Amino acid sequence: MEKRLRLAPSPTGLFHIGTARTALFNWLYARKICGRFLIRIEDTDFLRSKSEYTKNILEGLKWLGLEWEEEPLKQSDRISIHKEYIKKLLDSGSAYRCFTTEDEILELREEQKKKGLPPRHDNRHRNLSKEEIEKFISEGRTSVIRFKIDEKKQIKWIDQVRGEIKWLGKDLGGDLVLSRRAMGYEIGDPLYNLAVVVDDNFMNITHVVRGEDHISNTAKQILIYEALNFKLPTFSHTPLILNSEGKKLSKRDCVTSIDEFRDMGYLPEALANYMAFLGWSPKSSDSEILSLDEISKIFELSDINKSGAKFSWEKLNWINSQYIKKMESVKLSKIICKYWEKMEWEPPSQEWALKLVVLIKDSMTILKDAIDQSKPFFLLPPIQKEGQDFLENVDSKVSLKLILNYLIERNNVKLNKENAKEIINDISKMHNIKKGILMKSLRVAFFGSLSGPDLIQSWELFSESKSDITRIERCIK
Ligand code: GLU
Repeated sequence: MEKRLRLAPSPTGLFHIGTARTALFNWLYARKICGRFLIRIEDTDFLRSKSEYTKNILEGLKWLGLEWEEEPLKQSDRISIHKEYIKKLLDSGSAYRCFTTEDEILELREEQKKKGLPPRHDNRHRNLSKEEIEKFISEGRTSVIRFKIDEKKQIKWIDQVRGEIKWLGKDLGGDLVLSRRAMGYEIGDPLYNLAVVVDDNFMNITHVVRGEDHISNTAKQILIYEALNFKLPTFSHTPLILNSEGKKLSKRDCVTSIDEFRDMGYLPEALANYMAFLGWSPKSSDSEILSLDEISKIFELSDINKSGAKFSWEKLNWINSQYIKKMESVKLSKIICKYWEKMEWEPPSQEWALKLVVLIKDSMTILKDAIDQSKPFFLLPPIQKEGQDFLENVDSKVSLKLILNYLIERNNVKLNKENAKEIINDISKMHNIKKGILMKSLRVAFFGSLSGPDLIQSWELFSESKSDITRIERCIK
């Protein structure tokens, strides 16, 4: 039988890292078992669902490289089918109309609170007679449809991540609401647990992999599967992503949407690689830098951890820097050129741009670092305190004068790594000045401080953009 997995996001917000990680686990496992990865958009919360969020989720999946198969199913297109199944459950006696009003529910909650009991419905309308139902309807009362939950029933399944899970019917909060309120004999809009079961069955989903916050829903859904005589899929519940305080990662933790990670300059391959390790660790590999293809070959649901996965910026940054380092420089320079464009910085040539990218790529953590690190190559940096102190040293100004004269005498000779080194060597020998002083003086002229990337390679770039002379001149005026 074909193996089918799905992501079923609710488009009520931007694509969140938790949903992305669930998508990734589904995608990886689908690959591992040669199955299909599908999408279902659960957009039946009409007040909160927005098409722009659907777009954002699908774009985010593509950006991460998590392509799906088949046309995404839209849950809102299937409402009439969900209602047919609710009708079936009503007809078979597995469900019934419940007329409890909002006020009556509040009253019940208050009573339960006073007694220190957890909230649960008391199933008061489970056995209404036809006449009683008619009476409520003629009074204009609205009703929801409730699914009967046998309190004594034990629900059990073998979770692929957590092993055996058991729930008691009595712990599920009373009979389960399947649809929103409606007038007369109408059936209101179907709710999550019913719609999920009907749609997972329709899509022939064989493996449900989702966050552990759905464990109690799974217990409820298994009862609906049984009542509708549907074949059960296997279930896997993945750990939540936690912040540094061990609480569920939320908007308060600043960055949570995939867009934000992209805009900050994380590479999709790096973020996907990092997310795979959020709650999963392979038994068969020691490396933490693995492509999705490599991970999919060794991915096992049983290797997913049961406990929460702490989000670590440090690790994400490290993984991202590794991906930047190993990225082909031409490809990286195309990406970085876009950042420069936004800053309105224009490299003198493509070749120059590529050389600059090669120069800074090893010290970058995120793509945005390219802005700070390449800034002194586009804009004249001010001389900082440590640079000024260094220039007070007599030898440093002399050094710069000598270098300047050397360049002017040779008519602004075009520099490369070799002749730049020669200039330093020549001047050092001819004037008996330490090479270190010459280089540091140049560094201050170029970068305004004593730190920065490789000096000789930088000089080559400054020479090419014709800004080495001006930078030297400003220090010896
Ligand atoms: N729409 C649900 C959510 O976003 C899906 C849960 C499921 O995978 O069944 O949490």
